[in-house]
Amino acid sequence: MRYVSTRGTAPALDFREVTLAGLANDGGLYLPDAWPSLTRDEIAAFNGLSYVETAVRVMLPFVGDALSEDDLRSLCSQAYGRFAHDAVTPLVQLDHRHWLLELFHGPTLAFKDVALQLLGLLFEKFLTGTDRPLTVVGATSGDTGSAAIDALAGREHVEIFMLHPKGRVSDVQRRQMTTVLAPNVHNIAIEGSFDDAQGLVKAMFNANAAGTGPLGHLRLSAVNSINWARLMAQVVYYFYAAVRLGAPERSIAFSVPTGNFGDVFAGYVAARMGLPVARLIVATNVNDILHRALSAGDYSAKGVVATPTPSMDIQVSSNFERLLFDLGGRDGAATAAQMAGFEASKAMRLTNAQREGAGELFASARVDLDDMALAMRWACERAGQVIDPHTAIGLSAARSSDLDVPVVTLATAHPAKFRDAVERATGVRPILPARMGDLFEREERYETLPGTLDAVAGYIAKTAA
Ligand SMILES: *Cc1c(COP(=O)(O)O)cnc(C)c1O
Repeated sequence: MRYVSTRGTAPALDFREVTLAGLANDGGLYLPDAWPSLTRDEIAAFNGLSYVETAVRVMLPFVGDALSEDDLRSLCSQAYGRFAHDAVTPLVQLDHRHWLLELFHGPTLAFKDVALQLLGLLFEKFLTGTDRPLTVVGATSGDTGSAAIDALAGREHVEIFMLHPKGRVSDVQRRQMTTVLAPNVHNIAIEGSFDDAQGLVKAMFNANAAGTGPLGHLRLSAVNSINWARLMAQVVYYFYAAVRLGAPERSIAFSVPTGNFGDVFAGYVAARMGLPVARLIVATNVNDILHRALSAGDYSAKGVVATPTPSMDIQVSSNFERLLFDLGGRDGAATAAQMAGFEASKAMRLTNAQREGAGELFASARVDLDDMALAMRWACERAGQVIDPHTAIGLSAARSSDLDVPVVTLATAHPAKFRDAVERATGVRPILPARMGDLFEREERYETLPGTLDAVAGYIAKTAA
């Protein structure tokens, strides 16, 4: 399997290279040169398989010669063995039509663990025998940072530097990062906002790509959802859930609380591979660029509004470019021009082909604060389930759809991660699972730095092994 860039000019890569690379060097995102497909019989045979076995069958076509089937199985067993539920991503029934797919049983209580636990192991595997370690640099407003740190802590040949805005992440989120004391983990609190931290990371990547600055000699990599391997790992749970609810005989719909369009793009990939998906509902909060794009063809960025669902407070959804490329006839030059237009004016229109293609599979909804709270209360009072605010955005969108097939809402975070918002809506204060109960007694370690490129790049250059 080869991977090509959405902007058409970066070199094609194999799975190992695409996992280590992150962004393509033409500014585009990588995706497979053709979608692998599974027959109805192959999908039917997933019935009764464990999560790990399902994962091996779904991911094997994507890894090509980069890993043997046994190696892939061993990495999946290790990654998913760390989940606190034997089903890894269990389904919970809410009523005759609605289910939750709980994706938050990993070590840091957010769905990002599903992909990042595997990615950490892939990095280590692919770097064995090389003499150039990988330096992962990222910025986080909360969930991604803790999931990436947990996945990379103690891994050989990888170091991670994670920037967070000082005083602007919750205590739980900060401690999930800063109490990881492995020597290859470096937390940096930046004096500034999340956007400042993100801007510093971009500047470091640009300087590194140009081979200049104090980090010119390092092999930098990213762990955000532009990384193909992350999306691939997320395709698995669409198959796993759908087969349990009757696929391929029955078609299933999914409602996905969306920010960067990574999670829901994985659902699109599952459909392209042959899974009968009735609808993918793209659920946004009031930061609704994706809802406007899918319902009216208007992809235009507005200012970000802070909400109780911070992981969806996004105005530019990186992975949407992958969909535009695939629906637009896979024309790299056209995608590059469309994205250049967007970067210049912060607005663009979808083409007719893109709108029609998207309309065959996607629906979308914008969920405001009242409807989010209503969904949390309904789940609590009518189905006995305490859900987090992100999941509530998905559930609200699912409940307002009029589909006559089972609708699975992806539950993306454990409610205890957002306990203040949950308590405000439902009166119930969720508790942290026992394995995290001592979080507030653990020792913390982090560096505080001014939000300047000199200070941060200098620190990384000095500290990186
Ligand atoms: C990251 C995240 C999302 C959004 O996922 P995307 O792949 O960016 O669309 C939703 N909910 C939670 C809890 C998250 O951490």
